[in-house]
Amino acid sequence: MTDRRLDPAAAAELVARDARCVWHPYTQHRLEHAPLAIDSARGALLRLADGRELVDAISSWWTCLHGHGEPRLVEALRAQAARLDHVLFAGATHEPAVRLAEELVRRAPHGLTRVFYSDDGSTAVEVALKLVRQQWVQRGEDARRVFVALEGGYHGDTFGAMAVGDPDPFFRAWQPLLFEVARVPVDATALADQIARLGARCAGVIVEPLVQGAGGMRMHSNAYLRAARKLCDEYGLPLIADEVMTGFGRTGELFACTKAGVEPDLLCLAKGLTGGMLPLAATLCREPLFESFLHTDRSKAFFHGHSFTANPIACAVALESLALIDERDTPRRLALLGERLEGRLSQHLAGRASELALRRCGGIVAFDLPTVDPGYLSARALELRRRAVERGALLRPLGSVVYAMPPACTSDSELDVIADAMLALAADA
Ligand SMILES: *Cc1c(COP(=O)(O)O)cnc(C)c1O
Repeated sequence: MTDRRLDPAAAAELVARDARCVWHPYTQHRLEHAPLAIDSARGALLRLADGRELVDAISSWWTCLHGHGEPRLVEALRAQAARLDHVLFAGATHEPAVRLAEELVRRAPHGLTRVFYSDDGSTAVEVALKLVRQQWVQRGEDARRVFVALEGGYHGDTFGAMAVGDPDPFFRAWQPLLFEVARVPVDATALADQIARLGARCAGVIVEPLVQGAGGMRMHSNAYLRAARKLCDEYGLPLIADEVMTGFGRTGELFACTKAGVEPDLLCLAKGLTGGMLPLAATLCREPLFESFLHTDRSKAFFHGHSFTANPIACAVALESLALIDERDTPRRLALLGERLEGRLSQHLAGRASELALRRCGGIVAFDLPTVDPGYLSARALELRRRAVERGALLRPLGSVVYAMPPACTSDSELDVIADAMLALAADA
């Protein structure tokens, strides 16, 4: 047999088979280049089926925390799969789920004492929204049904998550089906005005703390987040922190909320929770919210659950990932990588750094290409991606926003590959 990994013909055949039966996410199949055929991955490197290697500069959609194929996570997966692969989570429990809940509560911002598991970032957000809404109903405040969300926000692709996300440009078709949300610019006065205007109709506030990811790596200050917390306190409203992207060290602290000194009422986690190896999500909340569901009337329970709630293998991998984060001080490592990358970029961009709005939060580094149509649907996006691949890096600009968020294991030379690819995109912008 030939070595499939070094065989361009086999890679081409895989892509041809893919084209006949697979539908990819966020992909215009009429226009886009063939997908990259990935054979394997180790550390920060993706190995293509034709033998090329790419640095995974965006941690495979912001999931891969330590690096691909991290042996400690692989071993945790193997051991747990052999012991208990899966069991329903209603009326049953298991050590990995309980211990992971304990460990998350121990590390989370103060006051978050309950953990509800689901499968991905979107469901973590759905759970938060549904918990808050049902709590209001059970407290006799049925009018509280309008969430306040931010312009440029992204919270996932399921219906509730789409409703609180900024509709442009992804969600236009479904907009008539989405529930009412009050969207405000990232500005404390605008938030205060909106909350006051909604009065007893306001259900709560949802934010991506410090960095709005899919909206274009837009960064805001600790002060803004603290102002949002203060407003929620004044009006007795729950603050939902969607840390699906920012969680587990991306901002240089374990959580963005901790970095900003803010304690949210609900915290949504996914992506990096398992170190990026398996789908798993958690929604953390405070004890009074949990207690408000305790009732002799069974209909007051939270009727929400997924087949794979608290999958034991995913929980075991998440526990091992938390251990690695502790041992390696992953948040600091990510911030260090971000600092080095930003340094290289600003050195080469020189006077253009401010024109391109070069910015960083922890391990997330981004800049804007001024000559590219800013929308996500920008026609140049495909060409930008292709040029990055030619330079040896997997980048996926969000419209005109070029960003990197590499895994913690990224070496100096791999970081150079990322910087060079980003600079190549900036060069003729
Ligand atoms: C990615 C993301 C989501 C959605 O997570 P999925 O796992 O893709 O469903 C939600 N919120 C934020 C902030 C995200 O970055």
